[in-house]
Amino acid sequence: MSLITVAVRKRIALIAHDSKKPELLLWAAAHREQLALHELLGTGTTGRMVENALGLPVRQYLSGPIGGDQQVGALIAECKIDVLIFFWDPLSAQPHDPDVKALLRLAVVWNIPVANNRITADHLFGSPLMGQAYERAVPVVASASVWPRV
Ligand code: PGA
Repeated sequence: MSLITVAVRKRIALIAHDSKKPELLLWAAAHREQLALHELLGTGTTGRMVENALGLPVRQYLSGPIGGDQQVGALIAECKIDVLIFFWDPLSAQPHDPDVKALLRLAVVWNIPVANNRITADHLFGSPLMGQAYERAVPVVASASVWPRV
């Protein structure tokens, strides 16, 4: 276990399953001002929709079902993501369910804050810690080659 410093400007991953995209867009619009202070990224479709709706840059990875969730999981393991907002759909089967599970698992392993619904995302964004640097415990000793800030 070691500690790394999470900067004030956080790298926030945004993902929503199809039925949850409208809810994520509503949430993101309500928090646009705060989101603008951070660096945003997302899976392909979610990222594009948030970028268009908010007019803020969102780095877009592959669409979730074809590998985007795995890409985001890999970024978490490289300490390149500080916060995960992931509105997954608890009422529909997903073809990429193993990838969804793997992503959620890595978020816990790497000790990042995760919001899976709007109320949790509201509470997270209401926390003063979102506007502060934070010492985060990670499961291995820090290595500069693994964790440069991008
Ligand atoms: P999408 O992927 O943003 O490309 O729709 C999300 C997901 O299904 O995990």
